Amino acid sequence: MRVSASAPGRVNLIGEHTDYNAGFVLPFALPYRTTVHAVRSLRQKWTVTSDWAPGQSTSFGKPESAAGSATWVDYVRGVVWALQDAGHEVPGADLHISSDVPVGSGLSSSAALECAVLTALIELSDLDIPVTDRPALAQRAENAFVGVPCGIMDQAASVLSEAGHALLLDCRTLETEHIPFDGTILVIDTRAPHRLVDGEYALRRTTCEAAARELLVPALRDADLSDVDRLTDPVMRRRARHVVTENARVLETVALLAAGKVHEIGPLMTDSHTSLKNDFEVTVPELDVAVAAALEAGAYGARMTGGGFGGCVIALVEPRDVAFVTESVEAAFARSKFTPPRSFVAAPSAGAHLEK
Ligand code: ADP
Ligand code: MG
Repeated sequence: MRVSASAPGRVNLIGEHTDYNAGFVLPFALPYRTTVHAVRSLRQKWTVTSDWAPGQSTSFGKPESAAGSATWVDYVRGVVWALQDAGHEVPGADLHISSDVPVGSGLSSSAALECAVLTALIELSDLDIPVTDRPALAQRAENAFVGVPCGIMDQAASVLSEAGHALLLDCRTLETEHIPFDGTILVIDTRAPHRLVDGEYALRRTTCEAAARELLVPALRDADLSDVDRLTDPVMRRRARHVVTENARVLETVALLAAGKVHEIGPLMTDSHTSLKNDFEVTVPELDVAVAAALEAGAYGARMTGGGFGGCVIALVEPRDVAFVTESVEAAFARSKFTPPRSFVAAPSAGAHLEK
């Protein structure tokens, strides 16, 4: 038996660093996907190859526990492990992976890989797992097996997105709503080297959790701005203020989109970036320069997207301004002597599915 499945990368329209604070996010799936061709094997053994790692073929038996060898194969082993650990029987398989999702650019190639493998293995194993339960399984692979403490957003976007829509996700209840979105989003990959990502990400999480404990709330989702003012540590206060204001911006964005006021979400996107720069302190000069140049060139709004410390900026633009905004950002990068950015327009695309 053989099956093929694919899953997309994502950008996040708004709602950054809110997922692990039980808050709201609004990502959408990219038109770039990771595809897995899976062939059932007769033994309890998995063999994995990827176009991304030419010439490498890795085999493994039943994954025991978080191995943490931290190679790309762990994303695949982690999915087999998460399924088995949840009590599902998964037959051995040969898996071949190909992808056009940029890897390591903050567009969530890792979730695309996990979710494509998960979708293929569920079909190959004839398992009955509702789609709404799948993001948590893929997240578990990344958290517990690969050892990356990511929130649920990336996997939820990769599994649950619908073409033409952004995905409003309540990260506490995992309730979703598909929000029609037809704005023109220019994605600018700054190609800035990821700096300090893992340590700083973990530190932001710990600080947010400590702030919630100090305020005696389950998560920062449950705090408001008057609570934030009660925090004594100035750094903790800034971090918490970002999360509280960002959650509000997600809901405001959704309300504007529901009212058909697409361009009016621009200032909320820009406010989000300012908050991530000044309060959450996760931007780098490349992200700030790209946002400033896009706004200068007439974008309705612009912000970093993803965890920060490198990665991508998204700008909401008029379709006729795409070339001008792109060139303006390129010119600003050249002036700053940064690596030239790569840009593309992304329309909201479909989530994970089987391929014929
Ligand atoms: P992002 O998810 O933003 O692209 P991550 O660092 O979270 O960045 O994940 C990138 C890692 O995921 C790669 O270093 C690699 O280990 C793995 N990966 C992603 N796509 C593929 C692929 N097509 N083939 C093999 N490994 C992949
Ligand atoms: Mg990732």
